[in-house]
Parts: sequence; C-alpha cells; structure tokens
Amino acid sequence: MDADAASRLCTACGLCCSGVLFEIVKLQPEDPIRDLEKLGMQINRKKTEPYFKQPCRFLNDCTCTIYQYRPTRCRRFECFQLKLLAAGEIDETEAQSKIDEARRQVAVIQSRLEEAGDTQTEDSLTERVERTLSRLPDNAVKKEMQALKIYLGRHFRTLT
Ligand code: SF4
Ligand code: SF4
Repeated sequence: MDADAASRLCTACGLCCSGVLFEIVKLQPEDPIRDLEKLGMQINRKKTEPYFKQPCRFLNDCTCTIYQYRPTRCRRFECFQLKLLAAGEIDETEAQSKIDEARRQVAVIQSRLEEAGDTQTEDSLTERVERTLSRLPDNAVKKEMQALKIYLGRHFRTLT
C-alpha cells in the first residue's frame, strides 16, 4: 500500500477513532494496560475484556496523540477504503471522496443533535442519537443515522 496515501487519508478522516464507526475498542492481552492508564486512558475492566470507550480521548482533530503507544486493535484496523486502496482497486481520490461524504453525513447528524439539545460529545454518535430519539422519537436524525449506517457498512466496515 502507498503508506503516505493511507496516512493522508487517515489524518483527514478519524472515523474509526471518533465514535462514529465504533463505540468501544477492546484491549488485547499483549496491550500494556497499566502503561496506557498512565497515559490517561480510561479503561473499563468490569465483568468483561478490558476496553476503552470512543470517541477516543487521544484523538486530536484526526490525529492519534499516542500513536506509537496505540493499542493492538488500533494498529491492526484497516477500513474497507484502505483495503481497496492497498489492493489497487481505488485511488486516493476515490477513497477521500468516500471519507468526505461520510464526514458530511456525520456533521449533519451532529448538528441535528446539537439543535435537539444533546451536547454530550464525549459519547459515541450512536449513543447520542439513541438518547435524543428516546426524548424526541420523531426527530429526522433517525433516518439520517440509518442512512449513515448503511453508508459506513458499504464503504468502511470490514470483517477481516
Ligand atoms: S476509517 Fe479508515 S481512513 Fe478513516 S481513519 Fe480509520 S482506517 Fe483511516
Ligand atoms: S488510541 Fe489512537 S488510534 Fe486508538 S482509538 Fe485512540 S486515537 Fe484512535
């Protein structure tokens, strides 16, 4: 893969760290949990595998501020756009346009949540939407979130 292209795309995206694609990140046995906690990561270890919540507190704009110490799953994750790029099936411009469209849809939803009075940006987008819909079930955000999930499923999620 063109590592520079992947780096440019990721630092203009952040969807896999910002609470849009994922709500939590599970830590792996090899991850240095105590060291991550010393860096300020809030790790939940109750009754389950340890994990931390997204949006990740180490995401600054679209950059990971603990990049060299990031956990295993962060290191290994490649979205579908990066896989297509690595396979030579799309170019950087095509990947960037998919990112731009996803971020546009996210921004519309975020603005609707703010209009509805939800200011808890420390929660994932899904949590925020569910909370808002529990108060305002007819809010248009429902359809927008459904459309976003379909878009992310088609262009970003990957099982491998
Ligand atoms: S969703 Fe893909 S392009 Fe975006 S930051 Fe994550 S790996 Fe990079
Ligand atoms: S530790 Fe870095 S790579 Fe992992 S979710 Fe947080 S910002 Fe993203």
